[in-house]
Amino acid sequence: MSGITNLTACETASAIAAGKLSAVDVAKAYLAAIERLEPAICAYNEVFADRAMDQARQIDAAISRGESVGPLAGVPVALKDNICTDFGRTTCSSKILANFHSPYSACVAEKLLAAGAVILGKTNLDEFAMGSSTENSATRTTRNPWDTSRVPGGSSGGSAAAVSAGLAAAAMGSDTGGSIRQPAGLCGVVGLKPTYGRVSRYGLVAYGSSLDQIGPITRDAADCALLLRAIAGHDSRDSTSLPADVPDYLAELETPLKNLRIGLPKEFFGQALDSEIRSAIDKAVGTYKSLGATAVEVSLPHSRIDVGPGGQLSSYAVACYYIVATAEASSNLARYDGAHYGHRTAGPVKDIIDMYSKSRAEGFGDEVKRRIMLGTYVLSSGYYDAYYLKAMKVRRLIKNDFDEAFKSCDALICPTSPTTAFKLGEKTADPIQMYLADIYTISLNLAGLPGVSIPAGLSASGLPIGMQLVGPVLSEGTLLRAARMFEKTSGTCNLMAKMVQS
Ligand code: GLN
Repeated sequence: MSGITNLTACETASAIAAGKLSAVDVAKAYLAAIERLEPAICAYNEVFADRAMDQARQIDAAISRGESVGPLAGVPVALKDNICTDFGRTTCSSKILANFHSPYSACVAEKLLAAGAVILGKTNLDEFAMGSSTENSATRTTRNPWDTSRVPGGSSGGSAAAVSAGLAAAAMGSDTGGSIRQPAGLCGVVGLKPTYGRVSRYGLVAYGSSLDQIGPITRDAADCALLLRAIAGHDSRDSTSLPADVPDYLAELETPLKNLRIGLPKEFFGQALDSEIRSAIDKAVGTYKSLGATAVEVSLPHSRIDVGPGGQLSSYAVACYYIVATAEASSNLARYDGAHYGHRTAGPVKDIIDMYSKSRAEGFGDEVKRRIMLGTYVLSSGYYDAYYLKAMKVRRLIKNDFDEAFKSCDALICPTSPTTAFKLGEKTADPIQMYLADIYTISLNLAGLPGVSIPAGLSASGLPIGMQLVGPVLSEGTLLRAARMFEKTSGTCNLMAKMVQS
């Protein structure tokens, strides 16, 4: 059975459509893999075994009746557990939503189901998507399938681990400051954060609403194109959704880009970068040049990374992000008060304020509380101008730098994260160290730009190295074609499945 879980989503979809595989056999193979490996990986909060089998049977029946089925018919997909489904629970890996059953499904869940995807389950995340290692989850500790003593990254760590361990053919993540790309990078898979507004946020539990995007985590760029095509597009239920046509990302994918101009942001290749990651990226740039691309140095001054005398890193982008994201989170998370939504304290309460306060104190974890307090502080009168307003100005400067850089190149290449997967527990005592894991990903969210992390090889100790391709607004098609050119030449497609399943 394990051969089936080694297939990419594209291979699975075409084998099912051609009658070479049944959707039921595919679902069974994934459920068997989950049974075998999930105790070691802990990627899922909930697995919909019966529902997945029912769906698979319906797809097989439709195919046997000669009906036309969707482009994802029978492909097992996992959803990050902050994407609402009107079946199962949507917990955000938080105690406060431990028993939340959403009355409706997110737009992406509807679109995936309409395309024929089989929803396998809901994956673990840092509570409310706040974190970079999935260790802030209140439900379980997800492990990196390449080395189970290490983190899978976060916050979409469950989705990235599931795809890389062959426990789902593809998965959905959400990315507010790096949460699709960073775990994809640390787990050796492909993760794409679309342009802000490209994919509807309807039914995504809000964290930082001006930053959040849903996107695919997959085995290769072709799967990423297949999934993005299925979930992208305008949705009137999300007022920030872009009214832009969805290109056929998959049809264009195999056409190599001619005269691709790559920009290398000089601020991202300083002292802060691990030497193995630097050399993997240098090699990748060499590969692109051999395929006819040219490389130019560009500058992103407001995203620069400073290294202090003790080696400590700092960046305007990280500082700016932790003001904007926490401000928005403090407002979005106000709804979990034990009355409208979520856990209500069982203890005696004096009045309604006491009920709110006890419910929230019991329901939220430490990191979420830290963010709510920070966000409330930066928005409070007297501090708003000094922090929030200043951050909004810095955000604009960060975006302007990208606009300037794209005058001389089509796409940027940069690291996804400063190191490969770190050890479980290594950064939990120091929130700033954890925040710095997103030093290369965060500025894209502030600027609303698309970015994809693809595998660029392995470190000497056998851990995946992620590389980021970044483009202007709505350049997902270009990024995926550039990703495809690289993965076909370097042989870094579908790395993980083979390792775990062999
Ligand atoms: N690590 C960042 C944070 O904790 C980004 C998380 C995300 O993209 N959801 O906020």
